[in-house]
Amino acid sequence: MTKKGVMHKIYFTCGPSQLYPTVQKHIYEALAHDIPSISHRGAKFQEIFQKTVVNLKRLLAVPKQHHIFFLSSSLESMERIIENCVETYSFHFVNGSFSKKFYEIAIDVKRKPEKVKVEEGEGFDFSNVRIPKKTELIAITHNETSTGVSVPLQDISTLSQAYPEMLIAVDTVSSAPYVNLDFSQVDIAFFSVQKGFGLPAGMGVLIVNERAMDKARFLKKRGVNVGSYHSFSSLLEKAENYQTPETPNVLEMYLLQKVTDDLLKKAITTIRKETEKKAKLIYDFFDQHPRYKPFVKEKKFRSKTTLVIDVKGDTKKILVKLAEKGFIVSSGYGKFKEEHIRIANFPSHKIQDIKQLLKRVET
Ligand SMILES: *Cc1c(COP(=O)(O)O)cnc(C)c1O
Repeated sequence: MTKKGVMHKIYFTCGPSQLYPTVQKHIYEALAHDIPSISHRGAKFQEIFQKTVVNLKRLLAVPKQHHIFFLSSSLESMERIIENCVETYSFHFVNGSFSKKFYEIAIDVKRKPEKVKVEEGEGFDFSNVRIPKKTELIAITHNETSTGVSVPLQDISTLSQAYPEMLIAVDTVSSAPYVNLDFSQVDIAFFSVQKGFGLPAGMGVLIVNERAMDKARFLKKRGVNVGSYHSFSSLLEKAENYQTPETPNVLEMYLLQKVTDDLLKKAITTIRKETEKKAKLIYDFFDQHPRYKPFVKEKKFRSKTTLVIDVKGDTKKILVKLAEKGFIVSSGYGKFKEEHIRIANFPSHKIQDIKQLLKRVET
């Protein structure tokens, strides 16, 4: 529903982003059914929790035995992962602001993280990275939203086979549900709902296997500070009863259940195909543009979900020009604020709208 006199906008921003097209309808239905007022200890909430977990496992091909926890955000997931799975040493692949944040959180909670770092816009040569033997957990950012660099899934598999005794945690915040992660190769994955799932911000989803749970139990027994109500064991104790330790954002979980219903109906294979088709349109356009170019040079490292374009200092000009048509894109991240634009390519974004967006860049 567009209000009279208000321009219809489309958010190609990297998060929060355009809401999934069905969200408005689901919010109205939630209000009609008093979802925001129901008890988080009652049967209706347990049903929503259970259905959401079943949907996420189907959509993302998560094995049955894995656990799904609901937190406040993905930064929280990073902190909980470090607290619960690392006594001292984590190892981080850092190529931008979000992977750096994961590393810094480990320092903040008094662990001793190490890292390998490459320049913004570049990927890692995994065959040349030596990970110290003492490492307990390897942290990988699958899709570095600040630079538009994505880690090829094959590299994650290779790493997992090279270091079988270490836990692997993957940040899929801006690539889920597009990313087809192999959960037999990683122990932990997490994302937030305001990116690829097209929902209002306010919830982080954390997926852990039994191996990660075992580590959390071991650290707790040893007296390591694993946090309080959101320690893995506290989360699991409640999750087994389809609940959360705290009063959660019930409306958000309801919306996640409904949107995952919709995504499943559409089929994840279709979503992935469409994502690739839309990404190709955008990259082809800028590869051929006389002035503006994709920031990531090596094609195998180019993100399909958050595309970063080097616009040679024209950021402000382009943002204004696009906004006149109701298209909202992200500026560059951090030091690239004035140099780049970032275009999100999530399931909420229609191919037709992407074509219109590119047309507007051209004129
Ligand atoms: C957005 C983002 C985060 C942080 O998510 P929040 O929900 O804001 O905590 C972490 N990692 C990546 C790659 C992101 O894009």
